Amino acid sequence: MTVEEYDFIIVGAGSAGCVLANRLSQDGRQKVLLLEAGGSDRKLSIRVPIGYAFTYQNPSVNWRYNAQPDAGLNNRIAYWPRGRVLGGSSSINAMVYCRGLPHDFDDWAASGATGWNWNSVRPVFERTETKVRREKGQKVFTGNGPLWVTNEADQAHKVTARFLEAGTQAGWPMTDDLNGANPEGLSIYHNTTRNGWRCSSADAFLRPALRRGNLRLVTHAIVERLLFEGSKATAVSYRQGDQSRQALARREIIVSGGTINSPKLLQHSGLGPAALLGDHGIDVLCDLPEVGGGLQDHLAVSYLYDCTQPTINSQLGRLQGRMAAAFQYAFTRRGLFSLSVNQCGGFIRSSPDIPQPDMQIYCNPVTYSTGVDTPPKVGPEPGFILSFQPSRPTSRGRIDIASPDIHEPPLIKPNSLSSEEDRNSVLRGVHLLRSLIDTPAMQGLIKTRRQPDPATMNDAEALQDFRERSATVYHPTCTCRMGTGPQNAVLDARLRVHGIEGLRVIDASAFPNVTSGNTNGPTIMLAQKGADMIIEDLKASGR
Ligand SMILES: Cc1cc2nc3c(=O)[nH]c(=O)nc-3n(C[C@H](O)[C@H](O)[C@H](O)COP(=O)(O)OP(=O)(O)OC[C@H]3O[C@@H](n4cnc5c(N)ncnc54)[C@H](O)[C@@H]3O)c2cc1C
Repeated sequence: MTVEEYDFIIVGAGSAGCVLANRLSQDGRQKVLLLEAGGSDRKLSIRVPIGYAFTYQNPSVNWRYNAQPDAGLNNRIAYWPRGRVLGGSSSINAMVYCRGLPHDFDDWAASGATGWNWNSVRPVFERTETKVRREKGQKVFTGNGPLWVTNEADQAHKVTARFLEAGTQAGWPMTDDLNGANPEGLSIYHNTTRNGWRCSSADAFLRPALRRGNLRLVTHAIVERLLFEGSKATAVSYRQGDQSRQALARREIIVSGGTINSPKLLQHSGLGPAALLGDHGIDVLCDLPEVGGGLQDHLAVSYLYDCTQPTINSQLGRLQGRMAAAFQYAFTRRGLFSLSVNQCGGFIRSSPDIPQPDMQIYCNPVTYSTGVDTPPKVGPEPGFILSFQPSRPTSRGRIDIASPDIHEPPLIKPNSLSSEEDRNSVLRGVHLLRSLIDTPAMQGLIKTRRQPDPATMNDAEALQDFRERSATVYHPTCTCRMGTGPQNAVLDARLRVHGIEGLRVIDASAFPNVTSGNTNGPTIMLAQKGADMIIEDLKASGR
């Protein structure tokens, strides 16, 4: 077997891995290998924003995990989609762009991730983004980073104006940019799209770097083990089809497999809780109890309404409307095919005496049904969805390997609603949403209330309903989190695995706590700052 040698090996070409591949190959002197389990992202279902519906269950681009029965959710088994394709989950996500709120990052720093407070990460967001909005039909740009973030306010469905009016009537603050100086309030979401196409991390970071001779991308390559000399990570073994290969890393290996697969790979490689590894006959290289621990995710519940006014259903629920939207997209790259279904929402305080916004709201101008193994289906009757998501849950779950075989899915144990604080925040969310529903603007939109109806449930019923129907918003994080030492964390504040040389984990698993809001933006920021650190260390070592 020929063994190739690189300076850096990156495992996973997702939101974070694509950033690293770009940044580490930028100076042309480092030889970089990027290994991705999935294949090409050149598919209309990925590139056209509305195609989200078709990648949600598609095994050719999606790991399609299932969580374990979750006691907090009445023992339900939740579906956990994850991207398995170039761009990773940024190629199959709903494209809502949120940096998170300043206190999220101040809390990172307070928990031991020194240097990750808001004032330190804000400039990293700024240099990463190009913000685009339309004024008088012309595009106006702010910033010149690789990731395009498009303000779709001029294209948002008409009915969103009524949602915003209802928010004002409920006394909620308004903002025109949830990622701006004032991120609190109801608004129109901005999307990671560029000229009507999805702007995944592969589009923004990987594609421009692929021309470089010093970056090698290998797709359909599953890394099966990290290999060590003593406590230094020196190589990876990976499988491509029926071929087993190895690659050596002269400098560092960076694991960017995402919140589920990064801890899984570490555990399979002998880094994890000694008892768990022992149960599966894996030799323990380093007993790191928190590998796989610390899991945090967002849960949301949706309430559906039939609407007195046309919504997206009125167009996409009918063949003629879909054809019209397809033509508009084909000729202008605009219209419903260029947008996310998550159009209106924001960060709201559930009570004025709470120091930070604690709920994320979604007001979607569409209703749809999701089936097992079928794409979400939009019916013709106008409808809309109101939804809330407690922004900063405190419950923590785990990801553990289920067998010594890397190709077996791991055990995902969300441990939802296991803290009293989280159960209380569900009730605060229901009360908050009720204040929106009770407004004249919202009452004017509601034709019929479907059951369950938050307006008529008492607290016990509302919590029971949340346990029965809430679902992940696909933001799992923290399973290899940064922190002060190996007993309470996996990584130090420079994303290096405690006790191991030459190995970093850089992806959403490194978050110390889940951020308020959607997690793609903060993952990309984390990878940018992680790349800065690697480059600094390289310079300090005289290379
Ligand atoms: C359906 C869905 C909707 C979402 N909607 C939004 C949204 O609207 N806005 C938002 O901000 N966030 C959203 N998210 C979340 C966001 O996309 C993720 O938080 C983010 O993409 C995580 O990035 P990552 O780099 O940690 O992992 P990923 O992007 O998942 O990348 C991990 C990559 O590593 C590869 N990999 C894993 N293991 C191996 C291995 N052993 N060998 C080789 N390759 C491997 C995977 O195939 C994958 O490509 C959504 C996610 C999903 C799934």
